[in-house]
Amino acid sequence: MPIYEYWCNSCKARIEILVPTFKSDPPCCPQCQNNSLQRRFSTFMVQSSYKDVYDNILSDSQLMRGMMHNDPRALAEWNKKMSGGEPIAPEYQETLEQMERGIMPSNPDSDTSGEVP
Ligand SMILES: [Zn+2]
Repeated sequence: MPIYEYWCNSCKARIEILVPTFKSDPPCCPQCQNNSLQRRFSTFMVQSSYKDVYDNILSDSQLMRGMMHNDPRALAEWNKKMSGGEPIAPEYQETLEQMERGIMPSNPDSDTSGEVP
């Protein structure tokens, strides 16, 4: 059951409301019965900001060096960090696995190298 955090515009109270089902009608403030409640995002919803991810990548000198040299493994690592643990599309997963093995995926349109895996 999700707990939603609201901010009352009328009495400036911070309210946490347990919402059993997703309803369209906004809840009333338990203190002043005003329904001018403003929905706030709970802090746990925001896991890590992009700035944190960038700081993390920039502080990883080995990763940065690899990216400077177009190292596929570094690029794969960077992709993982940027996705923030989100599931990757199956067709992209294969490419990422190749990169992790140190193989730079070739562009299908200009694949003339004939490289055999
Ligand atoms: Zn209120």
